[in-house]
Amino acid sequence: MKNFEFSQLKPKVQEFLNNEIPLYINGEYQKASSNASFEVLDPSTGKQIATASEANETDVNLAVQAARNAFDNGEWTQMPAQERSNILYEFARLLKAHREELAELESIDSGKVYETALADDIDGTIQQFEYYAGFATQISGKTTQISNDLVAYTLHEPIGVVGQIIPWNFPLLMASWKLGAALAVGCTIVIKPAMETPLSLLYAAQLFKEAGFPDGVVNIVPGPGRTVGEALTNHTDVDKLAFTGSTAVGTGVMKNAAEQIKNVTLELGGKSPAIVLDDADLEETIEGVYNGTMYNHGQNCSACTRVYVQRNVYEDVIEKLKQRASEVQVGPSMDPNSDMGPLISERQQQRVLDYIDKGKEEGAKLLCGGNKVHDAGYYVEPTIFVDVEDDMTIAREEIFGPVMVVFVFDEVDEVINRANDSEYGLASSVWTQNIKNGHYISNKLKAGTVWINTVGQELETMPFGGYKQSGIGREMGGEYGIQSYTEVKSVMINID
Ligand code: NAP
Ligand code: MG
Repeated sequence: MKNFEFSQLKPKVQEFLNNEIPLYINGEYQKASSNASFEVLDPSTGKQIATASEANETDVNLAVQAARNAFDNGEWTQMPAQERSNILYEFARLLKAHREELAELESIDSGKVYETALADDIDGTIQQFEYYAGFATQISGKTTQISNDLVAYTLHEPIGVVGQIIPWNFPLLMASWKLGAALAVGCTIVIKPAMETPLSLLYAAQLFKEAGFPDGVVNIVPGPGRTVGEALTNHTDVDKLAFTGSTAVGTGVMKNAAEQIKNVTLELGGKSPAIVLDDADLEETIEGVYNGTMYNHGQNCSACTRVYVQRNVYEDVIEKLKQRASEVQVGPSMDPNSDMGPLISERQQQRVLDYIDKGKEEGAKLLCGGNKVHDAGYYVEPTIFVDVEDDMTIAREEIFGPVMVVFVFDEVDEVINRANDSEYGLASSVWTQNIKNGHYISNKLKAGTVWINTVGQELETMPFGGYKQSGIGREMGGEYGIQSYTEVKSVMINID
């Protein structure tokens, strides 16, 4: 087990980590008004890797004021769409020039292995900005033909100052989902990264300036949800909130939004099903189902962790899943031999281990894994439970860790009902070579995303969001994401 030496990090990363990492308000890096700071930890070791300034309510007020001014002075909102597009595209180009620095920061801050951070998080972020750069010139309303003497059309205007709250599981990527569409339409933003993972977004702050965003268009305020998050969600000058995180906190965000009838988008939790029919291509299915749960160490809102396997292939599938899990090397995120890194925090590790204990207590059978590994850092082995009953805690609650629960089923309609029996409805996946069955099941599943013979693809071209308690609204997907950040104005002109 080998973690990185500080001296092996890129010089720009070392320089960034060596100084207290400031907030970013009104186009400037600046210290927190209270001078408070917090420790940034590497979950692979539990050791501190940096110190970051900690915002408070005063800083949120300053950031919102900057965003308000930048919105109201019109430089950004009234800028020709092509110029806004160019700035977004330039930002994507700069991210590309810094992709390895950003991947190092993402890896050591969040615990995901470096190659994944590079290919999925950072390159995914770049793609998101490139895509929405192109969308800045695609925003249009419609003209309606009422009568010869009435001209009637709609305008899609930027909604205003947006407060965005980001989780720690995909720090820069989740920020890009929110920033891309909001910036393309001309909104201004105050964004709060999670305390566990502030580094990548704060490093990228300098690139906003360099790309040419006017001051105040993007403001970054790292700090605790209970202070900074609350100040943002309660602020009377914030017009819209976009939140990704737990359903519990999302409920509070929505309550605060209700006080001022703020528009809100929520991307919340999930307990998504994977349905394996007995005609599935098993090799492809095992890889898909395994990754569908274990990707990002299970810390993934759309993880398909409830795996329903048709009886004929059940024994075969669980044997192969066990074999697949046994091949995985769990270790530090910067060690090239690691397939899977640590969980984000000691708290998250404990939460996952508690769920594993609960699974055993309630009578589920542990097929493999179940333990923490290594002395330092927050590691948990890939864990699979079989003989799981539908009402067990591990079958119903989101664990947000590398824990798969496997059920057996007989009939297609039976499994559809069981898959839908959840308070969540974020995603789902179906594995079958019979496309008619796949299509039938897909129509019946109550989930914002259905993957058939694939899993985990979250494309900027496709809307992403949840049914039921998994959320409200959609992100990405071109105009779907754009709609979240626009107000529609109806204009009628009498030309009689
Ligand atoms: P969390 O507590 O909901 O945190 C998410 C974000 O909300 C963090 O930035 C957090 O700040 C902030 N926050 C906390 N309390 C707040 C408040 N009162 N007002 C405003 N913001 C507040 O989530 P977590 O427990 O860290 O993460 C795990 C959960 O997030 C999982 O249950 C998972 O379902 C969910 N999640 C969902 C998605 C999705 O796309 N649907 C993605 C990732 C995670 P701090 O910096 O203080 O933590
Ligand atoms: Mg960290």
